[in-house]
Amino acid sequence: MVDLKAQYEKIKPEIDTAISDVINSTAFINGPAVKEFQLALEKYLGVKHVIPCANGTDALQISMMALGLKPGDEVIAPSFTFIATAEAIALLGLTPVLVDVDPGTFNISPDAVAKAITPRTRAIVPVHLFGQTADMDAIMEIAKQNKLFVIEDACQSIGADYLNAAGEWHKSGTIGHIGCTSFFPSKNLGCYGDGGAIFTNDDLLAAKIRSVVNHGMTVRYYHDDIGVNSRLDSIQAAVLKIKLPYLDQYARARQQVAAAYDKAFGGIPELSVPARSSMSTHVFHQYTLQLRGVDRSSFLEYLAEKDIPAMVYYPVPIHLQKAYLDPRYKAGDFPVTEQLCHSVVSLPMHTEMEQDQLNHIITTVLDFILHHSV
Ligand SMILES: *Cc1c(COP(=O)(O)O)cnc(C)c1O
Repeated sequence: MVDLKAQYEKIKPEIDTAISDVINSTAFINGPAVKEFQLALEKYLGVKHVIPCANGTDALQISMMALGLKPGDEVIAPSFTFIATAEAIALLGLTPVLVDVDPGTFNISPDAVAKAITPRTRAIVPVHLFGQTADMDAIMEIAKQNKLFVIEDACQSIGADYLNAAGEWHKSGTIGHIGCTSFFPSKNLGCYGDGGAIFTNDDLLAAKIRSVVNHGMTVRYYHDDIGVNSRLDSIQAAVLKIKLPYLDQYARARQQVAAAYDKAFGGIPELSVPARSSMSTHVFHQYTLQLRGVDRSSFLEYLAEKDIPAMVYYPVPIHLQKAYLDPRYKAGDFPVTEQLCHSVVSLPMHTEMEQDQLNHIITTVLDFILHHSV
């Protein structure tokens, strides 16, 4: 699905130097690399504050803690997402209120959000799934009217640009009150272990988040908030500092792969290529097809036989996950999400795709559709 080795080979001297510099300095925690990466990312995103943390899941949890959300508060999130989005809500004793997504972009449906609001709703978590930004104009408007916080889950969309109704471009994750991202190795800006970050333009919120990531402490050994210990370590920050200047180039490489897939699969009735939002660029964390009248297991088996990895993101919606079963929800409640869970397939997508690999994937997919599907 990804080729991290080939990507590393191209920047090996820079990375190796950056890592050995950290080791030689022994500043493993909160070393200068962390601050340098933070400042570089603030500049890249055009956001006032970046607060690094240990991973994307922590970023979501810390955001909700910093906003002072309390057990019983309702937080609206899509049912079609990676589990971490709902997990952070549930871990804090908040109530996840799940909603359906848009069938074209797979992103949270603003209409569904508006309908899910109750007097207990406190926040909305739009997930910018697979690399394009959700309809943030609509979501921010709903939030404003109902005095809600918006926490963007930008774990899959770092680097995507959002065009708002006023004609201004903003980086994905910098539009809501808080944005969260992950530097998990296979994410678009991946480090060599775990990492994450929280973004905000709000000074007071930034101070609160900085306190929460550090045991609720602003003055050493005085704890004003209940916090957590969530840090981006210096080695990961050093890797990220090297990789950040390549992020746009990496996005272009992904977009080229997506364009080749689109061209090959666009006219095939059994395959529906991912729709593009008119408001956001797409950084293709995943390239996700919907199968129409094709047996997905046989398709995946056929690809596997030809050494092509393909994945189903995600096979089970949140509301049908065992740990999240809730009498408020049942099968059939979110028809778009459930349909997607049955029909999606994500193809290999990364920054180092060779033309012959791409040709092999395309030929194999078409071969199955034209000759083997029923
Ligand atoms: C990866 C991801 C996360 C969690 O990130 P980690 O760094 O693995 O904790 C959260 N939400 C979404 C949508 C993700 O893709």
